[in-house]
Amino acid sequence: MNFVPSYVKQYETGELNKKKEKLMRKLENCDLCPRECRINRNKYIGSCRVGNKIKVSEFVLYPGEEPVLQGEKGAGAVFFSNCTMRCVYCQNFQFSQLGRGKEISSKELGEIFLILQFEKGASNLDLVTATPYLPFIFDALIYAIERGFSLPIIWNTSSYEKVETLEILEGIIDIYLPDIRYTSNIVGKKYSGVKDYWSNAQLAVKEMYRQIGDTFILDDETYELKRGIIIRLLVLPNYLNQVKEALKFIKYEISENVHISLMDQYVPVYKAKQYEKISRYLHKSEYEEVISYMESLGFKNGWIQTHLLASEGVELKR
Ligand code: SF4
Repeated sequence: MNFVPSYVKQYETGELNKKKEKLMRKLENCDLCPRECRINRNKYIGSCRVGNKIKVSEFVLYPGEEPVLQGEKGAGAVFFSNCTMRCVYCQNFQFSQLGRGKEISSKELGEIFLILQFEKGASNLDLVTATPYLPFIFDALIYAIERGFSLPIIWNTSSYEKVETLEILEGIIDIYLPDIRYTSNIVGKKYSGVKDYWSNAQLAVKEMYRQIGDTFILDDETYELKRGIIIRLLVLPNYLNQVKEALKFIKYEISENVHISLMDQYVPVYKAKQYEKISRYLHKSEYEEVISYMESLGFKNGWIQTHLLASEGVELKR
């Protein structure tokens, strides 16, 4: 299949460069994410702890994404240091919360994109919670396109995003991979340190769906996803209602055709032990209850996991 990523057209028309310049100007008064710090990042760091330098923890062929994002060798993941959220159970806390990583230039980031494609054989470029770095990502993307880069890009996000920022990504990102963590601002404040998670996340997911719709383009031979949206739901112990509310939101306000990835892999790491309700692993019965609820709503597309289930790989029919 000869798939051409959307960003190629925007590069050819000069739109990509215009957007890069717009994003670069935002560094002087940053409002890229809902925190809207409005500080000059050339002098100070924002609530995300990012200033005007790129910091990357690692880039790898990542085997943990959904099957259609894996291809033969894996997703080409770039894990950026720091984050706009403060999740007390973050599995990646060493770099997302403690800031571990290495400072690199935009050109070096562009080289990483090229290495993932040409040396590692990645199926896609998987940008993980990258919002504060967007101006530099556009710069790196232009550098890489000029050297033959052509992988579809995944925007792998907590959904704590502003619609205005996502609008800039229209025509650049072919695969959206949003999490819905909670359907309550109060719960979001408690576990992720932001006061307005759900207020923003629901608008963000709607915007991602507006851009992509029910489109789900798979390569004819490899079944790698080229364009589409997959919504991830991590089931937290004792918070089944949050996931059920998220499923209702998807069905009635997004689409029942959307691909859903229902995740059972919660591990109480980092500060999670300080919070009684999420200080343990998920019970199998809790996960099964959410699966039953999802099926009762009629969702047909997506994946459930098998860490907690005795049965072999249950894949929802597509
Ligand atoms: S990206 Fe960082 S500096 Fe910009 S608004 Fe968000 S938290 Fe603040």
